[in-house]
Amino acid sequence: MDMTHETIFGGSFLLTPIGSQPQFTPEELSEDARAVGQAAREFVDGEIMPKDAEIDKLDLDLTKELLRKAGQLGLLGLEIPEAYDGMDLDKLSGLLVLEELGRQASFSVTYGAHTGIGTLPIVYFGNEQQKAKYLPKLGSGEWGAAYALTEPGAGSDAMNSKTVATLEGETWVLNGSKMWITNAGFAEVFVVFAKVDGRKFTAFIVEKDDPGFSTATEEHKLGIKGSSTRALSFDNCRIPKDRLLGEIGRGHRIAFGILAIGRFKLGAGCNGIAKEVLKYTLKYTGERTQFGKTINNFGLIRKYLADMATRIFVAESMNFRTIGYLNEGMRAATWDQPDAAKQKMDIMDEFQMEASIMKVWDSEALGFIADDSVQCFGGYGFSAEYPPEKIYRDNRINRLFEGTNEINRLIIAGQVFKKFSNHTLPLRKDTAELPKLGTGPLARAEQAVELAKRQAQYATAACLEIAGQKLIENQEAAARVADMVTEIYTMESAVVRAAKMSAAGHRWAELARDCAEIHVNEGCGKVQNLARLLLAEVLEAGALDQAMADLRAFDLYVPVAGAKLRDRVAAQLIEKGAYPIEHY
Ligand SMILES: Cc1cc2nc3c(=O)[nH]c(=O)nc-3n(C[C@H](O)[C@H](O)[C@H](O)COP(=O)(O)OP(=O)(O)OC[C@H]3O[C@@H](n4cnc5c(N)ncnc54)[C@H](O)[C@@H]3O)c2cc1C
Repeated sequence: MDMTHETIFGGSFLLTPIGSQPQFTPEELSEDARAVGQAAREFVDGEIMPKDAEIDKLDLDLTKELLRKAGQLGLLGLEIPEAYDGMDLDKLSGLLVLEELGRQASFSVTYGAHTGIGTLPIVYFGNEQQKAKYLPKLGSGEWGAAYALTEPGAGSDAMNSKTVATLEGETWVLNGSKMWITNAGFAEVFVVFAKVDGRKFTAFIVEKDDPGFSTATEEHKLGIKGSSTRALSFDNCRIPKDRLLGEIGRGHRIAFGILAIGRFKLGAGCNGIAKEVLKYTLKYTGERTQFGKTINNFGLIRKYLADMATRIFVAESMNFRTIGYLNEGMRAATWDQPDAAKQKMDIMDEFQMEASIMKVWDSEALGFIADDSVQCFGGYGFSAEYPPEKIYRDNRINRLFEGTNEINRLIIAGQVFKKFSNHTLPLRKDTAELPKLGTGPLARAEQAVELAKRQAQYATAACLEIAGQKLIENQEAAARVADMVTEIYTMESAVVRAAKMSAAGHRWAELARDCAEIHVNEGCGKVQNLARLLLAEVLEAGALDQAMADLRAFDLYVPVAGAKLRDRVAAQLIEKGAYPIEHY
């Protein structure tokens, strides 16, 4: 069964045979996309990295200046329609820019909040007058943008907002407060969520100088110290009636739709940082000598290096695949159509499972990479004089914002459960027609992914049959479902990309195959264990024994010698001095 983009839907990868879905890869980037990535790289090399230390001292004038420079290069208007002086490029361009900007974590957060959660609510939900007023200035960097959802008492439970808006004649009056707002120290434009009449969750545009609006002092944070984060206060804050954004009572659509877009971007940014971490870790481990050898000769250090590259390869494969789905879906929705914004948001909604997978996996991969880098530097990794210390702190936020990873795991599982119950995802609970070993260089890995899909389907279906939708209330069980699904999506994305690179005779095809095999070698064991533990959460006595026996039918994968693969990957990394698969 070969699928087309029209037949792919969120989560469909769980059902379809490996390789049957079209999968976009970095190797298929167009010249235009490469040019955008290249421009971003030059900007980061020339303007951002030389000011790394200054940025992290939180110099708001410098931040604004850098945003304006990014604006001059068009990097702030990638997703703004041309009618409002933007470039109206696809989501891929944003991914490439964020991969580059990710190298400076603080500025990357500033940029992401400005162009993503700050600007996109107006792109997608603003009326003509609002778009004309705000978008050209946000695209040029003349104005900065922020997005204010979180409150002191309403974080993950954002709908529990206590900020209220009341219409008094031609004026909205806002009262309440917001917490942890990125870019608050310099932004001119704030997208703020409040409840009309204390009930109807609604979005508004607040400007910096509106009466009754103020920002608190900067938060002192663990990391991303060069990114502005402040609380906001609305004390009878009066804004004109026409600053209502979208419809009264429809704020959740804006708040959560835009956050889903933010999750894709966050994933891309994490991978950009990861490449930078690998680069300096390769340099250090190639210089540091112990026992008469540079430490990159030791098997366990080589394992760290190879695992870093593997995680980068996997993340990249998954990120580009997912962006490919979005782009295909959004391509048809051109801005000249009256319901273009709705069509685009619907596509985002469809792939919210994949957005959450990207967010969770990429942020945790970067967590492992940052931690392994500290380990490779030994005691020096613990010193602020060396680079791993900063990224160890900076990367931690990625597991917290844009929905914590717990909330995102619940979103992934919730999507699976919903789609199972409405028969969109008819998961199989049987051991018939087991995937066979095929041919080709990645045959074993391909079979392993197929087996993992069947195992995950079996265990999830068996539990849903008994617990129904209430399975979500057993959060450990739900997280195990999310982790199986995530592992499968990452394994499949890596294997399919590696197979494509092999078929094309790509220069780094062997490295790609090795990375895919390393990932599958560990990943299919994880899925197996997760499936067992999931079943144990719900099934009892004889039913559990039977299910465990059934699961053994899927246990056909014979592990490969990981050390050999890792050694080969490490050798190529050491020779190149960086993650070698370059986009441009
Ligand atoms: C540096 C920084 C920048 C930020 N920027 C912005 C911004 O620009 N705009 C904005 O609106 N917000 C922003 N945030 C806020 C961020 O999105 C929230 O911190 C996040 O959503 C978590 O909310 P919370 O901090 O209130 O934690 P809580 O919601 O109190 O969560 C605490 C813990 O409980 C867990 N938890 C909560 N509910 C559940 C549940 N139902 N099931 C299982 N576990 C649960 C969480 O996963 C977490 O581990 C930022 C935060 C930081 C630190």
